[in-house]
Amino acid sequence: MSGDRMTCDCGGLLDVVHDPSPASILGAEAWKRLFDHRRRSPSCPADRSGVWRFRELVLPDLAVSQLVTRGEGNTRLYDASCSPRANAWMGTTDVSFKHEGENPTGSFKDRGMTVAVSWAKKSGAKIVACASTGNTSASVASYAALAGLTSVILISEKGTAAGKIAQSLAYGAKAVMIRGDFDTAMRLVLQARTKLGLAVMNSINPVRLEGQKTVIWETLEQLGWDPPDWFVVPGGNLGNCAAFGKALREAYDIGLIDKMPRLAVIQAAGANPLVLSSRDGWKRHTVKAATVATAIKIGDPVNFSKAVRALGWTNGVVTDVTDQEIMDAKAVLDSDGVGAEPASCATVAGIRKLVSKGVIGRDQKTVAVLTGHLLKDPDTTIGYHRGTLDGIVPAAPNPPVVIDPTIDELRRVLGA
Ligand SMILES: *Cc1c(COP(=O)(O)O)cnc(C)c1O
Repeated sequence: MSGDRMTCDCGGLLDVVHDPSPASILGAEAWKRLFDHRRRSPSCPADRSGVWRFRELVLPDLAVSQLVTRGEGNTRLYDASCSPRANAWMGTTDVSFKHEGENPTGSFKDRGMTVAVSWAKKSGAKIVACASTGNTSASVASYAALAGLTSVILISEKGTAAGKIAQSLAYGAKAVMIRGDFDTAMRLVLQARTKLGLAVMNSINPVRLEGQKTVIWETLEQLGWDPPDWFVVPGGNLGNCAAFGKALREAYDIGLIDKMPRLAVIQAAGANPLVLSSRDGWKRHTVKAATVATAIKIGDPVNFSKAVRALGWTNGVVTDVTDQEIMDAKAVLDSDGVGAEPASCATVAGIRKLVSKGVIGRDQKTVAVLTGHLLKDPDTTIGYHRGTLDGIVPAAPNPPVVIDPTIDELRRVLGA
C-alpha cells in the first residue's frame, strides 16, 4: 500500500491484509507468551505499548525505531465489583468496563493514532490532518507533536467538547473551526487530502484501524484469553466496530480464542444510520445527526461497509438509545466512581436495553468499551447535575450547593 492511499479503485475502503498470515509464523500459545513477555519488558517502550507489543499483527512493516509511541493502551479492565451501581441499573451481574479513557490523551483514538502517525512519518508526510468530533484531533495533535510533524484539525464551530478543544490547542495543532457539522468537515478534509496534500488521520485510514484492534486483544489477554459472550461499543464513524470485528476474526483464525464473542454496537437515537440500515436490508442510510453525545454525532459513517462485515463475522447486533438514556446511564456509571464521557455511556444504556429485550442474558459475561474519559466533556456533566441540559430531566442529579461559611449553614445542608 502506498503511504497515503485510502480507497480502492472500486470506491470502497482499503483493508490491511497480513502476509504471511500470523498463524503460519507462530502457534497460538507462542504468540500469547510473546505478548506477555513484551508487556513486562524493562527497557523497550514499544514492547510495553498496548498496541506495539502485538506489532506483527498490527503493522509489521515498521521497525521499532520508526514507531511514534507514548506507551498507549494498557488500560484497566474494571470487573463488575468496581461498578455495582451500573450493573444493578443494567440488570446484569458480569459486565466489565474496558476503560479506553485511560489512554495518554484520554480516548481509544491513541491506539489508532500511534499507528497512523508512525506510518505517515515513515511515508514522508509533513502535515497530518483530520476532521474530528474532538478526540481524534486531541490525539492527532499529541502524536504529531511527538513525531515533529505539523497537525491541522477540522472541528465543528459548535458543539465540540471543551476538554478536547483545549487539548488540541495546547498540543499545538492548527485548529480550524468550520461552520458545519462533522460530516461536512469530513468531506472537506478528504478534498484537502488530494488538493493540499495533507495526510488524513481519520479512521478511513486503514492502518489506524489496525491499532484499534488491540483494544480487543488486550482485553482478551486480561481475561486469560477466555473470551466474553459480548463486546459492546458505541458507534459513530464505526471504526471501532470494523476494527473489533477484524480483531476477533483474526484472534479466532490464529487460535488465540476458541469461541467467537458477539459484537453489540450502540448508536444515539439522533445519529443512528446503522440502526436504520439494519432494518432495511443493510442498505446505506445517512441522517442529519443530533445528540448530546458529540463523539458519536455522525450521520454518514465512513466505515459503514466494514462495520456491516464485522457484524456478520460476529453475529452482531445494533440498537440505539435516547439522549435521556445516555445521560442517566452516565450518571449511574459516574456514581460508581468509574465515569466516562457521554458517548461512552451509550454502551451502558444500550446494554440495559438489550438485557430488557432478552438479547444479552443477565449473567452473560460482557465487556463494555468506555471510549473516552469523563473529563473530556465537563460542561455536559455539570449541566446534567445542575439540570440545565436542553431536553434532559436528570434522574439522579447531584448539584453543588452554595453556603455562607458558617458551621450552622454547613450543618443545615448536611442535614446533621
Ligand atoms: C471517536 C469516538 C467514538 C466513535 O467511535 P467510532 O469508531 O467512530 O465509531 C465514540 N466515543 C468516543 C469517546 C470517541 O472519541
